[in-house]
Amino acid sequence: MNSKKLGFGLMRLPLTDPNDTRKIDYKTASEMVDRYMEAGFNYFDTAAPYHGGKSEEALRECVVKRYPRDSFTITDKLTFFMISEADQLEDFFESQLERCGTEYFDYYLLHAMNKDYLEQAERMGAFDFVQKKKAEGKIRHIGFSFHDSPEVLDEILTRHPEMELVQLQLNYADWDNPDVQSRACYETAVRHGKPVLVMEPVKGGLLASLPEDIEAMFKEKEPEMSTASWAVRFAASHPGVAMVLSGMSNPEQVEDNLSYMEDFKPLSEDEQKLVHDAADLLASKASIACTGCRYCVDDCPKKIPIPEFFKMMNNVSQYGPSRIAPMNNKYRHQTENLGLGKASDCIHCRQCEQHCPQHLPITEYLEQTAEIFE
Ligand code: SF4
Ligand code: SF4
Repeated sequence: MNSKKLGFGLMRLPLTDPNDTRKIDYKTASEMVDRYMEAGFNYFDTAAPYHGGKSEEALRECVVKRYPRDSFTITDKLTFFMISEADQLEDFFESQLERCGTEYFDYYLLHAMNKDYLEQAERMGAFDFVQKKKAEGKIRHIGFSFHDSPEVLDEILTRHPEMELVQLQLNYADWDNPDVQSRACYETAVRHGKPVLVMEPVKGGLLASLPEDIEAMFKEKEPEMSTASWAVRFAASHPGVAMVLSGMSNPEQVEDNLSYMEDFKPLSEDEQKLVHDAADLLASKASIACTGCRYCVDDCPKKIPIPEFFKMMNNVSQYGPSRIAPMNNKYRHQTENLGLGKASDCIHCRQCEQHCPQHLPITEYLEQTAEIFE
């Protein structure tokens, strides 16, 4: 794995139509890829559900067709909410290779593992399947991404020592968050001797646009550094972390990331303290811990734009009631102009909650959303 710890996550790419995540702007994305590669980085992360199913094709068009295969690495994933039976594994995997335009994956992860998916994966023979593909040379390294407690992580790593890597949600806001337990999960992976890949270092963008008082703490220390830089550097500073993914959305984000990751310096003791103080202050402000992954939206029968609504709710709770009016305009744009579901249209089928890796009580939050915006 590249010793430069910045991975390019292909889940928030630039779009040609801001209202349709499937319409990826290949031209801008290719320019971003060029800049990233030129700076000596080469790790790309995709998955079948990203961008409404279009991320793997974007990888093919913007990276695979434009660079020699041995100059970059691809991480793809076996997504359990897209298949449920053992006889679907082969087709699912082969279709991924085809969409990516590659003969092999450098890293292949069982996607968003938790207690339930562990049972499903074992029932389907997914652990044996990925080992078989590794033996065939179609996967170089196997692992899993993970959203559950440190106890479940320990259970998986004990039962499946063949897993070589673990991808964890790790950021300063979740480090001691009892719902995520980044620290305990990280320590568990390290105890088992597994390199850690980090997802959501900026918590789906939440740590890039902080409330003013927290942003001021960082700006006072380093006026030139972006707020996102503190989050990415925090994640990369842990010695057991092999790669930090950033879901880069525009060329400015690429440049910002490169400015501190090209010649990376871990956080000093002082800087660590500042980051933990910021985390404490952030925890004292109520917010919905939605990372914007969008796993919840595809199956919603009412087409409710859940992550967009939660972003508006967070904006109001972090910046105060003065944000209700502008957020209300956004709310009306989603529901009236785009014809998407209102929060009060929710029929409590809970399909969304089954897919949410953050285990959010989505239906409850939607009731609060309806109260504020309707
Ligand atoms: S519970 Fe509500 S928001 Fe969730 S999928 Fe069902 S209708 Fe959509
Ligand atoms: S509500 Fe959950 S599944 Fe939906 S975007 Fe947020 S974190 Fe992802």
